[in-house]
Amino acid sequence: MAPAVSAIDDLRPLREVIAAHGLRAKKSLGQNFLLDLNLTAKIARQAGDLTACDVLEIGPGPGGLTRGLLAEGARKVLAVEKDVRCLPALEEIAAAHPGRLQVVQGDALRIDPLAHLTPPVRVVANLPYNVGTELLVRWLTPSDWPPFWQSLTLMFQREVAQRIVAEPGSKAYGRLAVLARWRADAQIVMDLPPEAFTPPPKVSSAVIHLTALPEPRYPADPEVLQRVTAAAFNQRRKMLRAALRGLAPNIVAVLQEAGIDPTARAETVSLEGFCALARALAR
Ligand code: SAM
Repeated sequence: MAPAVSAIDDLRPLREVIAAHGLRAKKSLGQNFLLDLNLTAKIARQAGDLTACDVLEIGPGPGGLTRGLLAEGARKVLAVEKDVRCLPALEEIAAAHPGRLQVVQGDALRIDPLAHLTPPVRVVANLPYNVGTELLVRWLTPSDWPPFWQSLTLMFQREVAQRIVAEPGSKAYGRLAVLARWRADAQIVMDLPPEAFTPPPKVSSAVIHLTALPEPRYPADPEVLQRVTAAAFNQRRKMLRAALRGLAPNIVAVLQEAGIDPTARAETVSLEGFCALARALAR
């Protein structure tokens, strides 16, 4: 009979890795580790076929997901980790997979990973909660499209994942839903309870998979679309003519030009409406 839990590689179990390198989780770095290698391999599989791809991983920590990505055949993994304490554990993984794992130490918000990656690129990460949404917004709003990535497979707090896939009219609908739907197909592909992590966070998590569209669904300038959605949803209970007053002196006329009722609220405006508004504002 096959064993209930099979090893995905010849390296030692993650609990031993963590004990050997003294990797006590730090709250300030959003450290909630995945120690079940079968689970990390399952998350890696949600990203699709990795064998012909370079993978960018943000926040590898002790390397559970990194090992899953390598076991699933990723051509190369570039792992960006802020916590220097994790580097020896990651070096052990690199040594077991010669030439396939490159580790860069630093803050993912400050490092440009593109110099080290060859397309096609998939991004797979159990993101630190404090930089997760900022990274997602950056990946969705470069000035040129298509972006460097083909897909994003990302772990978020479940509530954030629901905001990314939310429909207009729902409470969760906001800037993230508009930006994600504008340039990508997004769906929640896995739910994880707090107990899946060490230490367990307070809330449930979910893995979201986004694939980049060849072109945005509607034309708009990314910077303007971001600004207008941020302003509209920052004051989501207000009418748009009030919430967006700071963006243009003649905001009522701009809203009308975009075909949007100036007394409407942000959560009722479709993606198409926000793109029309961004174009009218840019004019
Ligand atoms: N991937 C590991 C796993 O699944 O077990 C760890 C995930 S943990 C939620 C987030 C990781 O991101 C931690 O290892 C943390 O040190 C790292 N991290 C936090 N802020 C970071 C930043 N600004 N840039 C890069 N890594 C960061």
